[in-house]
Amino acid sequence: MTSRSVVVKVGTSSVTDDTGGVDAGVLAGVASDVVALREDGWSVVVVTSGAITAGWAEVGEGRPRPRDAATLQAVSAVGQPLLMHAWRDAFAECSTRVGQVLLAPLDFSHRGQYLHARGTIEALAALDVVAVVNENDAVADEEIRFGDNDRLAALVANLVGASHLVLLTDTPGLLTADPRIDDTATLIEEVTAFDADLLLAAGTSRSGVGSGGMASKLAAAHMATWSGVTTVIAPARAKHALRLAVEDTPGFGTTFYPRPERLSARKSWIAFAVASQGTLVINDGALDALEHHGRSLLRVGVQSYTGGFQEGDAVDVKGLSGETIAKGLVRVSAESFADGDDVVVHRDDLVLLRRR
Ligand code: GLU
Repeated sequence: MTSRSVVVKVGTSSVTDDTGGVDAGVLAGVASDVVALREDGWSVVVVTSGAITAGWAEVGEGRPRPRDAATLQAVSAVGQPLLMHAWRDAFAECSTRVGQVLLAPLDFSHRGQYLHARGTIEALAALDVVAVVNENDAVADEEIRFGDNDRLAALVANLVGASHLVLLTDTPGLLTADPRIDDTATLIEEVTAFDADLLLAAGTSRSGVGSGGMASKLAAAHMATWSGVTTVIAPARAKHALRLAVEDTPGFGTTFYPRPERLSARKSWIAFAVASQGTLVINDGALDALEHHGRSLLRVGVQSYTGGFQEGDAVDVKGLSGETIAKGLVRVSAESFADGDDVVVHRDDLVLLRRR
């Protein structure tokens, strides 16, 4: 993708109105901003939520929203085409076509599948079609679902090598406190580091319909900024929200600035996309070798390990205190740990995760 590329995620509370139906006005606003940005040379991928809510508005007949996974998955299957129809209409107003891409966590875990998804999104761009992504809710197993599209959007930003991630939602951004409880809450305009106060400000706030809330937006911003992606949380219903967000407009939304050294696409994939299959606990000597001398992890440095990992699987690497130090792809399976190669995790397959 070009150096200026943005993944914009529109949350359920913004995609749908209070009846649960798709809010065509919001979609029209996002679509016209997307088209304007594309004319300015940006690449844009849309991540949409709202399939379950729109689906229940269609078939629920006013009953309370169901909770069981099988019904919710079926409801998403009703809502997803309604959602795509609405996005198609919104973009058609600006003479632009859309394509649907549904992704599940496994698509991010398998490197081959991951590269395939990236190829499809790139091919859509080459056809001048805007990719509209959602989680494959109808199929993805409850146990392994993302469940919220904030994380999905951060992974997509990483997948396409985006420069920006914009999370459009129903608040002005990240506030110092929950405004429903504390009316002195003010907007945090800029974030350069993730600390305890920030996590406290995010609390566990949720809107009625979305599944993410501020905590999941913060987790997404954390992941994206580590991968070198500038992240903005901004109000979806503001006029030209997407444009204002990518233009870094003072007083508009919360901007999270990326770490200066961007992880390579492959290392971000190891750090954030692929699920860990076990844990290696390393001794202090190995910790020093990894963190201060850029070495590979050798078997002698591993104090203990857990999990049924296979060769090539991702594992967490922890210090003796239990703190996560790194994540990497392991070269030996748990079964043959004692007699495999001396290098357990090669430095090229290792991502250090502590801020130093
Ligand atoms: N994938 C879900 C849907 O389209 C949305 C999850 C979320 O609220 O972020 O209904």
